[in-house]
Amino acid sequence: MRSICILGSTGSIGENTLDVITRHPHLYRVSALTANTQIEKLARQCHQFEPDIAVVKDAQGAHQLQKLIVHLKTEVLYGAQGLIAATMHPPVDTVMAAIVGAAGLLPTLEAAKAGKRVLLANKEALVMAGPIFMDEVALSGAELLPIDSEHNAIYQCLPHSLATSIGSSSASGVEELLLTASGGPFLHRSIDTLDLVTPDEACAHPNWLMGRKISVDSATMMNKGLELIEAMWLFNMPENKIQIVIHPQSVIHSLVRYVDGSLLAQLGEPDMRTPIAYGLGWPHRIDSGVKKLDMMTLKDLNFMAADVKRYPAILLAREAARTKGTAPAILNAANEVAVESFLQQRIKYTQIIRIVDQVLQEVTAQKATSLELVLEADQQARARAQIVIKGLTA
Ligand code: NAD
Ligand code: MG
Repeated sequence: MRSICILGSTGSIGENTLDVITRHPHLYRVSALTANTQIEKLARQCHQFEPDIAVVKDAQGAHQLQKLIVHLKTEVLYGAQGLIAATMHPPVDTVMAAIVGAAGLLPTLEAAKAGKRVLLANKEALVMAGPIFMDEVALSGAELLPIDSEHNAIYQCLPHSLATSIGSSSASGVEELLLTASGGPFLHRSIDTLDLVTPDEACAHPNWLMGRKISVDSATMMNKGLELIEAMWLFNMPENKIQIVIHPQSVIHSLVRYVDGSLLAQLGEPDMRTPIAYGLGWPHRIDSGVKKLDMMTLKDLNFMAADVKRYPAILLAREAARTKGTAPAILNAANEVAVESFLQQRIKYTQIIRIVDQVLQEVTAQKATSLELVLEADQQARARAQIVIKGLTA
């Protein structure tokens, strides 16, 4: 029986993880759950799964949760220390890292250091601190399984023994990785009208139901840019060997091209429970509850290059990927701040990527030789982004 900690259990990935777990009560026990501010939802999850530990944002939230679950034995903790305590809780052998944004970095890194099985949904950890994170994984022998659907697809198309070191091994025969992208809700919208896009329109993803931050990133395709950086570290591949392909149907979740002409793909319904079940069950396969993909109803599968005029985020992400060091952390932090401002309707949709661009020009990237330097770059970029936004909204 595996003992699970879900970081971000009230989110889209968190709830999907609990859904898969519920289908296998004999295989998994939920030992720790964490949320930020959705106290009532977390209380309902506590009643259903009776975890040893539940974590919320702050003392006030902890007090509120405690009152809602007085009859349970669940210990209520809060803040960054609480997240780390949940991750390090001794019975926990598997950590689902599903906090959104940079807030997920530290607890996810702790899970890797402790040698746990890490189911990595939080792409920001690898974007910000890829080399540091991968070194910790190698040092501790942690099992790192990608949950992001594209990376999970690639992982499934690679020989297991080489999955996280293909770039360094010519024996793998891997020529390039192809990340598929739906193109988001604005694939066919006239570029001149993107200025008018509302947060709800940007979050209305055609194929996937996700949290609001990643939904906006899917619309701008910054999500694919972040995923490119994630793939670079995860699979040890250079930026120029990772292609981005728009595939609006989201049936093929990504591909690996081999030197012999083979192109391996993973297909399935666009439902995150497939990669989640893959990570939970690995090295076995378990039922995920996902509807079977019916080949007979698949009519057109289309593929096209991403137009960088429509999706300038891809250029910025590629540049940060080539610069390395703290550049990806700067890109990520500026984007988080800009997306948050857009969701609060303080800036226009088209300003998101302009702000990221300006911050990347104004904050100089350094070598990312320590976690402190990465966190410092993250803070600097956030502060800079706030100043740029203030200038725009004044
Ligand atoms: P979400 O917004 O639905 O949920 C985020 C979760 O993180 C919630 O439980 C929230 O309480 C918690 N959280 C937010 N801010 C926090 C903070 N400061 N401290 C502690 N906890 C905090 O997001 P999501 O769509 O589930 O995405 C989660 C992660 O998975 C993201 O990194 C995203 O990029 C990645 N991901 C998501 C999907 C998807 O289909 N949703 C697919 C691939 C990757
Ligand atoms: Mg993805």
